[in-house]
Amino acid sequence: MNNLKNLRGTVDLLPDQLIKWQNVEKIVLEQLARASIKEIRTPILEMTELFIRGIGEGTDVVSKEMYTFLDRGERSCTLRPEGTASVARALIQNGMSSNPLQKLWYMGPMFRYERPQAGRQRQFHQLGVEFIGYESVRSDIEIIALAWDILGKLGIKELNLEINTLGDLDDRLNYQKSFLKWLEKNINYLDLDSQNRINKNPLRILDSKNIQTKKILENAPKLVDFLSEKSHERYSDLKKQLDVLKIPYVENFNLVRGLDYYTHTAFEITSGALGSQATVCGGGRYDDLIKQMGGPNTPAIGFAIGLERLILLAGKDLEVPRTTDIYIINQGLIAELLAMDLSRKLRNYDLLVELDISGASFSKQFKKANKLKSKSIIIIGDDEAAKNEFVIRRFDQSGNGDNEEVISFENDIKLKRWLNNNLLAK
Ligand code: ATP
Ligand code: MG
Repeated sequence: MNNLKNLRGTVDLLPDQLIKWQNVEKIVLEQLARASIKEIRTPILEMTELFIRGIGEGTDVVSKEMYTFLDRGERSCTLRPEGTASVARALIQNGMSSNPLQKLWYMGPMFRYERPQAGRQRQFHQLGVEFIGYESVRSDIEIIALAWDILGKLGIKELNLEINTLGDLDDRLNYQKSFLKWLEKNINYLDLDSQNRINKNPLRILDSKNIQTKKILENAPKLVDFLSEKSHERYSDLKKQLDVLKIPYVENFNLVRGLDYYTHTAFEITSGALGSQATVCGGGRYDDLIKQMGGPNTPAIGFAIGLERLILLAGKDLEVPRTTDIYIINQGLIAELLAMDLSRKLRNYDLLVELDISGASFSKQFKKANKLKSKSIIIIGDDEAAKNEFVIRRFDQSGNGDNEEVISFENDIKLKRWLNNNLLAK
């Protein structure tokens, strides 16, 4: 077993780490439920063609980052690198006409063959939200507000919302023409990566992280100047409504995002606390995707939050596990059976009940209860078992007495009263 290891860029999430994951997920899922957004689950494994068509061949994700292989039937399969293409496929395949407007979320692992580093893994997790069939700018606003509020509910501060518009397809083609002319003139000043993108995905050059390229790009034509009047108005509306909701934003005209399918609104939420992989949430509108994939003409908008980065940002208070309400210390043949039965009864009250099944001595079991800072303990030994009763005692940190009581196994009324006074009402 010595040399068996996980694959590079993948991680094990261990029980202590998962406390924070579960706390974060709980808050996120509650917020999604409050906004009446429904879950969708699609396969992790899809036909490779889905991502080539859905994301675009010229993108980094498809050209460099996909986990693709032939299965035993010689079909080319890919571990999903993102969620939107799969959601679009699932909706088209299952028929959209009966349900043309849908608000959906998904959560799960994604796979990209990238260089692993802080905030970047080969298997990572995303929470995504997609509003399908919604065209008006109100859906853009609701999507952005939702992402903003999820991060807010987690107590994350110092976030920056960056927005941009990519116009519609015509706006983009018009812009691309003039941008290409400019690129050809300035090709020698661009970094190598950007030079290579000129023929494949020129808009992505705007997103370059190379300092010199960034500087040169300040003089490049800007997409906003090529927007039709309608696209312009849409973008102004977006900004006005964000102002009304008091959601602060900055405009970033170079924000184009990695995937091919975006139209109009694109946005990212970043945090300085994340270092160089600063983006925790990326989203945008993709009005042409579903049609391009063979579905009905369906406008849509969505975002994806990287859960690893979200966990890094979320506060330490979320690392705390739920405290044990009752720790059951027990020993002896009959006592152990009674204890098992009692633990099941107590869990029906939504109490966190830990039954000690270690078979260790009473003193060791006491120590364990202490270490866990259990709010209370139950003791069942041979003496108690013989009398068909148990001892229940509160561990009172405030020193207000231990409130110990001896209760018969049959006396549910007395048990309920004790629980009400000591655990349930708090
Ligand atoms: P980046 O610029 O970081 O590569 P991206 O544009 O490729 O991001 P998206 O495809 O928009 O990212 O994915 C949305 C979010 O998913 C990102 O903002 C990030 O939080 C997270 N994410 C993307 N790739 C990874 C990865 N390899 N490891 C961890 N998280 C990731
Ligand atoms: Mg990326």
